[in-house]
Order: sequence, then structure tokens, then C-alpha cells
Amino acid sequence: MDNEKGLLIVLSGPSGVGKGTVRKKIFDDPSTSYKYSISMTTREMRVGEVDGVDYFFKSKAEFEELIKQDQFIEYAEYVGNYYGTPVQYVKDTMDQGYDVFLEIEVEGAKQVRKKFPDALFIFLAPPSLDHLRERLIGRGTESDEKIQSRVKEARNEVEMMNLYDYVVVNDEVDLAKQRIQSIVEAEHLKRERIEARYRKMILEAKK
Ligand code: ADP
Ligand code: 5GP
Repeated sequence: MDNEKGLLIVLSGPSGVGKGTVRKKIFDDPSTSYKYSISMTTREMRVGEVDGVDYFFKSKAEFEELIKQDQFIEYAEYVGNYYGTPVQYVKDTMDQGYDVFLEIEVEGAKQVRKKFPDALFIFLAPPSLDHLRERLIGRGTESDEKIQSRVKEARNEVEMMNLYDYVVVNDEVDLAKQRIQSIVEAEHLKRERIEARYRKMILEAKK
């Protein structure tokens, strides 16, 4: 029997809300079976980041060449840098029956929604904008000016919540992780998905 296609899971939300932290928690859990799609970016590598693990770090020229070659499911320019999801890995991995997990900003999520209407869209929300600012300051990787610009961006992003299927508040990392895992589990049990599987079994039994 052919592999059932995996689910595309999109975790998005304002920068600084904790997407990276929650995603790492999810992938540190040995019971997690989803595959993380590593993004490409033109931003500078932060201390502790590894090329090919955290991101594929590219020059602007390299990134623009890949855009021309239609190599991205989605890409966005965010606070002066490009970020994008390479198409091949996602398609191949879903075809193998694995769930693929994207962690992307909201412009990119909008593009994915158009291309993959069946994907699962989860919005990670801060308990409040004050929390968000505090977290960005606490992370200590951005200048004051960049923090202002990210918080401003976050205000616009929160207004885009209506594009999502679920909203998860990131009050505590462990709770956010558990909520996301429950949502994915429930998504797999959607009547449409189960019904399709049974229809296939019935067809095969008739052969
Ligand atoms: P994003 O990937 O959305 O830009 P990060 O994962 O880098 O956000 O998180 C931004 C900062 O907030 C980090 O310093 C992180 O440790 C902190 N953080 C993330 N989630 C929580 C939480 N639930 N409570 C408190 N701090 C958090
Ligand atoms: P950072 O520079 O903090 O790693 O990421 C900045 C923003 O870009 C975050 O909101 C992050 O989720 C988002 N991002 C990371 N990878 C991608 C991607 O492939 N596509 C898009 N559109 N956004 C991404």
C-alpha cells in the first residue's frame, strides 16, 4: 500500500514569542516523529548557531538565485533579511509519510496557506506584548532599535491571527509544547483523514 502523505504543520507567530524555544522542546522529545524543515536565511549567524542545523546560511545573491529557480515553498523578507523554506525537502519528506514541521513568520505562513490549504496552521501567541518585549530584551541578541522594529512587526502579526486554525498561548514552554502535540494528534484523527484511509482499505479489499 502507498504511504499515506504526512501532514504539513506550520507554527508561526510574532518574532520573539518563543517559536524557536517551543520548537526545540518539541524536537528534544524522543517521542516526536515530525521532521523539522530547516530554513534558509541571509541573516548573520548568531553565537552558538550551526550552518545546516539552525538554518542554511546563504548570501543575498545565492538566495535570490534560488528564488529565481523557484526553489522555495515560501520566502519572506523580514527585518532586512530573507528567510525561506526549501521546497524539495518538504515534498520528499511528506511523500515518505512523515509530518513536516515549519517554523516561519506570518508572511510566509500566508503563502503556505495558499499552496497547501490542507496544512495545519498554529499561531503561537504571547500572553501580552509586554511579555514579548521583555523576552526579546532577555534574549539579548538584538539592539534596542531592532527590538522596537520587531515589536511593531508583532502588532501587525497578531492582527493576522484569523488565518490560523489554532492559537496556542506560550505562557509556559512545556504547556505550549503539549498543546501543539495535542493539536497535531487530533488533526490526524479528523474524520476526513480517517475516512479517506478506510475508503482506500475498502477499495483494496475489493481487488
Ligand atoms: P522566536 O523564535 O519566536 O523569535 P525565541 O524562541 O527566540 O522566539 O524566544 C525569545 C525569548 O523568549 C528567548 O529568550 C526565550 O528563552 C524566551 N521564551 C520563550 N518562550 C518563553 C516562555 N514560555 N516563557 C518565558 N520566556 C520564554
Ligand atoms: P530569527 O532571525 O529570530 O531566527 O527569525 C526571524 C523570523 O523569521 C522568525 O519569526 C522565524 O520564525 C522566521 N523564519 C525562520 N525561518 C523562516 C522561513 O523559512 N520562512 C519564513 N517566512 N520565516 C522564517
